[in-house]
Amino acid sequence: MPRLGLGAWKMKDEDETAHAVRTAVSAGYRSIDTASIYGNEESLGRAILQCGLPRDELFITTKLWNKDHSYSSTFTACEDSLRNFGLDYLDLYLIHWPVAQQYQEIWEAFVQLRKEGKVRAIGVSNFQIHHLTELMSTSSVVPAVNQVEFHPWLTQGPLLAFCNKHRIQVEAWSPLMQGHFREIPELAEIAACYSKSVPQIILRWNLQKEVITIPKSVHTDRIIENANIFDFHLHEEHMRCIDALNQDQRFGDDPDHFQFRD
Ligand code: NDP
Repeated sequence: MPRLGLGAWKMKDEDETAHAVRTAVSAGYRSIDTASIYGNEESLGRAILQCGLPRDELFITTKLWNKDHSYSSTFTACEDSLRNFGLDYLDLYLIHWPVAQQYQEIWEAFVQLRKEGKVRAIGVSNFQIHHLTELMSTSSVVPAVNQVEFHPWLTQGPLLAFCNKHRIQVEAWSPLMQGHFREIPELAEIAACYSKSVPQIILRWNLQKEVITIPKSVHTDRIIENANIFDFHLHEEHMRCIDALNQDQRFGDDPDHFQFRD
């Protein structure tokens, strides 16, 4: 799985989406993250078809939305996503949120989808340690990935350690704090030491923590900037400094207090 991907939440406009995918592919991105609830699987599918790369060089992730939480509706939802994209398999399919009492059943359907070759890998999103523990107590198939909110104000120490121990790959959503990175002067100071931007420092910190990262942008310069993170290395002291910024602060919903709306 590529360590860097393009996030696609809030990419609505067809031309904007096509431009973002084309730019990302030429900047070296090979992974795209979306979800059925984002409503852009169809436009992404068209953008992927036109981007000039063969299907097997791309890594496509989408997510099962909360209203589709039953064994049978999982199959229908997956078929819908595949049809929307115009693809015959997904690289990664995630349970978007841990809807209480339902995700064990969904997970069985996910295992079956993987057996049938509709999806290459299966994982979860927004799962806390207790959700993972419960899931793993009822299935021998461990999620390949847990995609969670992760950034300098939410460093998820215990969850990261748990996932590392069980070989579950952590993937960071909202890695750039939905733009709030500008509020942290320590990051600007670190960025100046490397002649890099603050987003590049954050994304590099993700990589060095072995967390996959999927920043979203629709702007050419930012898409390119966010990919230029493989030519430098953060010193241990700066890694520790970023780790210490944690405030357990979320910009998105808390998985333990999420209203599982349609
Ligand atoms: P990000 O933390 O990636 O931040 C995106 C925002 O930052 C956008 O407003 C973007 O603006 C701006 N931005 C991006 N790059 C730069 C840059 N270099 N300099 C300045 N501003 C920049 O937020 P997201 O919430 O979009 O998270 C990333 C992805 O994670 C989503 O797109 C989605 O795929 C996934 N996600 C998953 C969730 C889940 O529940 N599993 C929940 C939320 C997100 P612009 O586009 O205008 O450039």
